[in-house]
Amino acid sequence: MKSKVIGLSQVKATLSAALLLLTAWLATTGTVRAGAPATLALYFIDVEGGQSTLIVTPHHRSFLVDAGWAGQGVGFIPGGPKQARDANRILAAARDAGVSKIDYLLITHFHPDHDGGVSELAKLIPIGTFIDHGKPSPDAVRTGPDIEPAFDAYRALLPGHPHIVPKPGDRLPIPGVDVTVVSTDRATLGQALPGSGAPNPLCGKAAIPAADPHENPRSTGVVLSYGQFRFLDVGDLTGEPLFRLACPKSLVGPVSVYLVAHHGGPDAADPATLAAFAPQVAIMNNGLTKGGAPGTFQSLHHVAGLEDVWQLHLSGNAGANGNFPDGFIANRDEGTSYWIRVEAREDGSFRILNPRTRQWKSYLPRAAGLHESGAAPQ
Ligand SMILES: [Zn+2]
Repeated sequence: MKSKVIGLSQVKATLSAALLLLTAWLATTGTVRAGAPATLALYFIDVEGGQSTLIVTPHHRSFLVDAGWAGQGVGFIPGGPKQARDANRILAAARDAGVSKIDYLLITHFHPDHDGGVSELAKLIPIGTFIDHGKPSPDAVRTGPDIEPAFDAYRALLPGHPHIVPKPGDRLPIPGVDVTVVSTDRATLGQALPGSGAPNPLCGKAAIPAADPHENPRSTGVVLSYGQFRFLDVGDLTGEPLFRLACPKSLVGPVSVYLVAHHGGPDAADPATLAAFAPQVAIMNNGLTKGGAPGTFQSLHHVAGLEDVWQLHLSGNAGANGNFPDGFIANRDEGTSYWIRVEAREDGSFRILNPRTRQWKSYLPRAAGLHESGAAPQ
């Protein structure tokens, strides 16, 4: 057999070609985006009407807001971590983002659709710093039988970890992004954030009363800025504290993405709050019947400057004309568990993936114009 000698330049060329192929493959899997600018990734994980939002900074620091339910959901019935529905969905998002640790975990408030999944999650992936509003109110514990056992399981994880109980206006020490606390334990910002403070003409006299008066209004809310991109997540903040952020003037100012408060429940429907946050895009972490109240859908259909609303689920509550178009809905039923993924850049541009339809939609920085550059998902 005739042997073939391969020169150094051919070896280099072969290696380069292999590297290109590998890079192209990795790019299709989402692991590496060769040559792409640094991006902030946000995963709105489907936890069937609870909350779990994974944020991964350009330098691969991870910040998880809430951890969904324990076990198979609803109530607080934890089981083995391998069978834990929501914890495994969070783990899948972390793997997709290429992180092997949750550096910061914020529990917005002590309801089992937000803190229930933490103890199972902690067995699947290390958690660094814990952030919360302290402890559930006695009234919440008295009226919700799942609240204390879920909190006890959560509290048992804290020893040996940094634990932050912030005040409004505090900044969380997450490198690469600016995370400012806007609400916690019923308290809200004492003054408007830089660039906000405009009077809000849509304010009525009072807040829509909170459906749950005990824990939801204690939610720890944050605005996360990455350059010009701003994301507002207030957990289930409703009632008076949500109103105070919006009226009589907006203390938060306009945001790129607003995670609609309280899963889009009826107490998140006030047009004044939506006008105050002036979101470019709203995302609703509703379930098939949880959240997504008809009044909230109605308000969302009439927000000035709002380009799109994305839903984690088709809502059975919304009626035929309430749900936004199919391409903006991650899950049509409970048989799938697609997340909604946002990739944001420092200049304020971002794009959103619906993994069910495999369609991205791109959004320009607001200062550059209100219209999207990408094709609308169908
Ligand atoms: Zn909730």
